Amino acid sequence: MLELQDAFARKFQYLRLSVTDVCNFKCQYCLPNGYMPDGRQSFITLPEITRLTHAFASMGTTKVRLTGGEPSLRRDFTDIIAAVASTPGIEKVAVTTNGYRMEKHAQAWRDAGLNAINVSVDSLDPRMFHQITGQNRFHEVMAGIDAAFTAGFEQVKVNAVLLRDLNDGDVGRFLHWIKDKPIQMRFIELMQTGEMDSLFDRHHVRGATIKAQLLQEGWQQKIRAYNDGPAEVFWHADFQGEIGLIMPYAKDFCATCNRLRVSSLGKLHLCLFGDYGVELRDLLEDASQIGELQQRLRHALSDKKATHFLHEGHAGMTPHLASIGG
Ligand code: SAM
Ligand code: SF4
Repeated sequence: MLELQDAFARKFQYLRLSVTDVCNFKCQYCLPNGYMPDGRQSFITLPEITRLTHAFASMGTTKVRLTGGEPSLRRDFTDIIAAVASTPGIEKVAVTTNGYRMEKHAQAWRDAGLNAINVSVDSLDPRMFHQITGQNRFHEVMAGIDAAFTAGFEQVKVNAVLLRDLNDGDVGRFLHWIKDKPIQMRFIELMQTGEMDSLFDRHHVRGATIKAQLLQEGWQQKIRAYNDGPAEVFWHADFQGEIGLIMPYAKDFCATCNRLRVSSLGKLHLCLFGDYGVELRDLLEDASQIGELQQRLRHALSDKKATHFLHEGHAGMTPHLASIGG
């Protein structure tokens, strides 16, 4: 099998696929002014997604995360899940969502083959949730989490970007919330992106500070599985829930990179913070192009850098995470 491996012997079993750039939220750290439509854009189609997933699976990909923008805004989202889940070799299909359509659709997504849900909840205080996301939809999102459990998801992962002087005081409240719930609460360190103004300087909280606090309170770190995402996961005997920390600025964050990204415009991105995308769409027109597509993917990987350059304040060409899927 032609494998997806780079010059640093990292193997890539995990594809993060953005299916749209569109979003209905206005998160301060992502799309503070909301999504700005660009009339010329046409997002990757269901047949293209099917061919792409087959090519990745034929090269060892076992896990696909559907993201965006807000992926559930696509009318054919359930069909996308079904197409990806039925691809031979794909063992796990996950979604990252703002949760706004989850109450209504969680069961249909589960039935279509979805295995895992990550939903963003930046605060358990409805007013702070509104302030950070620009949407007064806290209760709908929470109802969506309940619907996910009812639909049969055994665990739900909840993402919160910690922001100094906004929700960084909520950590205790989040911990209390997951005491008796099978939720993995993931605190994401704010990442600086191209279009971000002074927000980073005003609100960045170091993940290492939270980690030190957790270790002090008796949380213990779990061992990573080969196709796990970037979180460092912690457990505690007194809690049913777990904590995940995503710390892109941590030393060696990139050493365990196992992820590749494809944008909603069909470009391969070797890193969330890379400089360019490799066009794939011309090789997604017909299933017979799979050999050429595999060669292009392999060739592109030889260019993957050892690390990102965020520490030097260089976020590559990524204006905000909605553009290539966070
Ligand atoms: N709309 C969906 C959502 O919000 O979950 C999926 C796309 S969103 C870009 C994916 C994740 O990236 C969310 O959990 C969001 O909080 C996170 N994110 C967006 N911009 C970020 C930034 N600048 N730094 C850290 N995390 C960010
Ligand atoms: Fe939309 Fe997700 Fe970005 Fe928030 S983080 S604006 S929900 S894409």
